[in-house]
Amino acid sequence: MPAGIIPAAYIAASILFILSLGGLSHQESARRGNLFGILGMLLAIGATLWDGAVTGYTLIIVLMAVGGAAGAAVASRVEMTAMPQLVAMLHSFVGLAAVLVGIGSYLDPGTQFTDAEKTVHDAEIFLGVLIGAVTFTGSIAAFGKLQGVISSSPLLLPGRHLINLAIGLTCLWLGYVFLGADSNAGGMWPLLLMTTLALVFGVHMVMAIGGADMPVVISMLNSYSGWAAAATGFMLSNDLLIVTGALVGSSGAILSYIMCRAMNRRFLAVILGGFGTTGSSSAIEVTGEVIALSAPETADLLATAGSVVIVPGYGMAVAHAQHPVSELTRNLKQRGVEVRFAIHPVAGRMPGHMNVLLAEAKVSYDIVLEMDEINVDFPQTDVVLVIGANDIVNPAAQEVPDSPIAGMPVLEVWKAETTVVLKRSMATGYAGVDNPLFYRENTRMLFGDAKESIEQVLTAL
Ligand code: NDP
Repeated sequence: MPAGIIPAAYIAASILFILSLGGLSHQESARRGNLFGILGMLLAIGATLWDGAVTGYTLIIVLMAVGGAAGAAVASRVEMTAMPQLVAMLHSFVGLAAVLVGIGSYLDPGTQFTDAEKTVHDAEIFLGVLIGAVTFTGSIAAFGKLQGVISSSPLLLPGRHLINLAIGLTCLWLGYVFLGADSNAGGMWPLLLMTTLALVFGVHMVMAIGGADMPVVISMLNSYSGWAAAATGFMLSNDLLIVTGALVGSSGAILSYIMCRAMNRRFLAVILGGFGTTGSSSAIEVTGEVIALSAPETADLLATAGSVVIVPGYGMAVAHAQHPVSELTRNLKQRGVEVRFAIHPVAGRMPGHMNVLLAEAKVSYDIVLEMDEINVDFPQTDVVLVIGANDIVNPAAQEVPDSPIAGMPVLEVWKAETTVVLKRSMATGYAGVDNPLFYRENTRMLFGDAKESIEQVLTAL
């Protein structure tokens, strides 16, 4: 094989990954972005397999067939609402891979490193395993919280910051012992002990984070999985893995920053396990009366409105209501009503969740507005239709200083003339906080499954 082909293929794959990330940043170009990513990945796998250094094709092909078939089966069956859990699970695999490659690479480095080279290689292993182990168990805990098998409220152990500090300092000391060890046997115990501590830290860190802060955790674990992959690239001396890992790591870090800004949180405060979270009761005193509305009454309200803003939330995804919502939009537009959508950055259960659903239902992008663009318009809006959203429209974020969601920017839907909330009951949202919006004078509740309710409104229209 001519020299230079593999590095050239790696560079081409890296460029395709960068184009992919660029494409994914806009709804119009997201499909193209995905395609670039697929091509880049095919090229990367092809080039790696073709590399002369690879042996044992039978095992590789069997494992790829099993893994590929399992991945395809799960991905083709997963519900849109379960996508965040799937992503969390995939992050955990990257973490586990980094741990296993690290330990494997320590037992059998392939090349015999000496002096400074050995120290650098060992440091790569130690860091890679550390990040990988935190990512692995942290992602499993995040999966549990998103799936609802673990409570979304924060688990705040007494002295949790001291526990974290003790784990951090012990890992530093273990790193020192590991790098100083002159035999595999001498280095193995600090490596394995650190792995155990990092596994515990991953769970502890995510368990202490409350439901409303989960978006930051998801993007942070996304970033960690990238750095774990980059560290694996260093261990295996694979440039493409380093570049790809760094791309995922840095884009995840940027996403975490965006999420923190969107929620008015300090990143460090979130990842250190709810600094400033008092664990106080989320129950607040809500006064007022709940006024229920029927679907035909809602239809009347909408048909006579001049401007309508639709606020979709997680419940729209659960109900699969995006298609009837899109039809409702067309219907109202034909009647001369101005219809726009307001998207909160953490609506649903993953970044861009609502945008994906609306794009799937062919809602035109130009009427889909971000929170900052639309918040000023609510006072001039006749009707706001809140479809399966709760935390993102909760005025407690502005009005109740010790609320778990205090300080989080929200869509100020209560400023509109009338707000109609579509949900099945008076249950709280993901953060577990009561919502005073439902008791406001200008709020009406349309109880029921969001899809069925919208279909009834359409029939009445
Ligand atoms: P919420 O989870 O706050 O509220 C969703 C509401 O939808 C519930 O109150 C529920 O009420 C209602 N609902 C559920 N199913 C249906 C249905 N079939 N028909 C009608 N209504 C339904 O969602 P939001 O989008 O308002 O807020 C997102 C929350 O998730 C935030 O707390 C955010 O921090 C968190 N989060 C976001 C992530 C992200 O990246 N976007 C990631 C992880 C967490 P009822 O049961 O009464 O019907």
